[in-house]
Amino acid sequence: MRGMRSGMEDQAIQFRRRHLQFLSVLGFAVAVLMSIFSIAWDMWEVAVPSFFYAPICLYTVVMLRRKPEYMGRLATLFIVATLSVTQTGVFLQKPGAITDPWIMTCPLVVYGLCDRKLAAGWTVITVLLLIAMRPFQPYVSATPQTTVVLVLAVVSFAAVQHLYSRRTEDNERLIVELSNTDSLTGTLNRRAFREILPSEFRRNQRQRSSLTAFMLDVDHFKNYNDHHGHVEGDRVLAAIGQTLRQTARRSGDFVFRYGGEEFCVLGSGLNAAQAAAFAAQLRANVEALRIEHRAAAHGRVTASIGYCHAEELDALTPQRLIEEADRALYLAKDKRRNRVERFINAAAA
Ligand code: GH3
Ligand code: MG
Ligand code: MG
Repeated sequence: MRGMRSGMEDQAIQFRRRHLQFLSVLGFAVAVLMSIFSIAWDMWEVAVPSFFYAPICLYTVVMLRRKPEYMGRLATLFIVATLSVTQTGVFLQKPGAITDPWIMTCPLVVYGLCDRKLAAGWTVITVLLLIAMRPFQPYVSATPQTTVVLVLAVVSFAAVQHLYSRRTEDNERLIVELSNTDSLTGTLNRRAFREILPSEFRRNQRQRSSLTAFMLDVDHFKNYNDHHGHVEGDRVLAAIGQTLRQTARRSGDFVFRYGGEEFCVLGSGLNAAQAAAFAAQLRANVEALRIEHRAAAHGRVTASIGYCHAEELDALTPQRLIEEADRALYLAKDKRRNRVERFINAAAA
């Protein structure tokens, strides 16, 4: 599940980065235009905040190109700049420097840029500034009544944005989960396997930790379908998927449906004895489902497991780890099935 989450976070960060870049360019263009017009019309009270705002927008765009990892801080800078411009307008006490529109756009900006907690914080700050500063507004309409209306508007804007962004995040999470889950067995699917295997391999390699791949294949499953029907066969696969998920529950464990009646389990940080015990547990738990199989020697559904346990990943590749587990699986099949075999190799051991 970790791999899926990080993919989703990447997408959210990309979205915010594009959003911040767009707003900064727009802010820069507006500030430059306002400076030019306000100088032309001799309106210095508008020109001062614009002069101040333009370099901040430009700085944000440049930094987003050079150092995108500072995006969170830049978003905060951008919001502080926006609020500062509104307050400069207030302190100038000139009707030309109308600040209400800036304040109104604040919830729209913050919910696009920050995560939801930070956005809620900025909304509170905006409301407090609005209440504290509006009595100093230079125009007659700045009465307590209109301040209440503005506060309500900001809060309802923020609430709608909050609900909308939560729904969008929930939908994104659902899409990611559905696209990585096998619908029959509830395990991760082949698509997730392609993403997670290399990333788990690299992570364990970096951390000098072990990685174990277990390949599990249901025994005589073609015969099962022939005798019990495909609908029953599907139920068996679903039950096996569930029991594997329940067995492999630690944070570094992943269960994938690799192919038709084949599953792959990845386990991180196990030692050799733990890997052997884990494989034995996986096999025993399938047998413990006690599903009748009329066309099998044991009379019930069983599975064979081959695994490759690697303490030293530098000598391997993700692909070879799986190939070697697969070879061990064939050995288990050759030795009359319903058993566990480990791939023995000097480089991988
Ligand atoms: P072995 O013990 O050597 O693994 O024999 P086997 O019969 O399990 O292996 P084989 O590869 O000959 O057959 C696999 C069977 O799995 C054939 C296919 O019909 C069945 N199968 C694959 N996917 C599904 C599925 O989604 N649902 C059902 N019901 N059966 C499936
Ligand atoms: Mg098979
Ligand atoms: Mg099979």
